[in-house]
Amino acid sequence: MTFTLYPDTRLTLARDSLAGLSVGDALGSQFFVPGRQPADLAAGLLPPAPWQWTDDTEMACSVLAALAQTGSIDRDALAVAFAERCEPYRGYGPGAVRILRLIRTGTPWPVAAAAAFDGQGSCGNGAAMRVAPLGAYFADSTSRAAAQAQASAEVTHAHPEGIAGAVAVAVAASLAARARLDGDRPDPARLLAGVAAALDPATEVHRGVRRAVDLLGRPLAEVVAALGNGSRVTAQDTVAFTLWVAASYLEDYPAAVRACVEAGGDVDTTAAIVGGTVAGYTGVGTSGGVPTGWLAAREPLPEWTG
Ligand SMILES: [Mg+2]
Repeated sequence: MTFTLYPDTRLTLARDSLAGLSVGDALGSQFFVPGRQPADLAAGLLPPAPWQWTDDTEMACSVLAALAQTGSIDRDALAVAFAERCEPYRGYGPGAVRILRLIRTGTPWPVAAAAAFDGQGSCGNGAAMRVAPLGAYFADSTSRAAAQAQASAEVTHAHPEGIAGAVAVAVAASLAARARLDGDRPDPARLLAGVAAALDPATEVHRGVRRAVDLLGRPLAEVVAALGNGSRVTAQDTVAFTLWVAASYLEDYPAAVRACVEAGGDVDTTAAIVGGTVAGYTGVGTSGGVPTGWLAAREPLPEWTG
């Protein structure tokens, strides 16, 4: 099926994805507060509002604002936006703070990103955590989603795994949003195969997504043992796990986020990736979508998001 995707439709899909990403981030980060138990969420008990969002959401808002303004990623402009809007107390990792400080003080982003981690570049999960709305925006083209995701990743993540993580999440979010437009819930194995096809086969992220196919239907603990849960904050130990969750719970946003909380690890980021991917399919306030009560509990997004 071919169709024209109008700018308003793109933005609606991307904003729904951002709602899911930010609620997942904000709710997930509540479980780093001492005394909070995943079992509470499973029993329907929500943490007291407001739920503050973190770096995942701040950077995703910059990605969405860029697309709303120009319809594509300008790497120079995005690097400056990330750097100028960075509020370090939002949970940025020390490596990210260093790169963004370099950019803010005039270092060109290719130099700042390449210098990170002793010249290897970052393979952290930070380029993946912010990219789902971009994938939803390009619901009509996984190849466009992949190319734009790569551009959005490169300004901070020079390592091939960090970039592959962003491409994987964007393609998953593109396929999810496309499925919503088509009214056809994709088979989980087909969704993951579509993601794997877009990835550099030399990457561990690619191998992880392939393994995730074999783990469909398996218990969460087994999946975490095989794929990770983001506890190393790398793309390699985050992205395949999150896409397993998103593919498995694509029609049920609350269940998808609960799975991230139950899995532990880098919960704000896993719930942001999963939430952003799933919400592009479910929407907000729909059956299986982002619950309006959860959205109301989330700290408001920055006004500049647009
Ligand atoms: Mg975070």
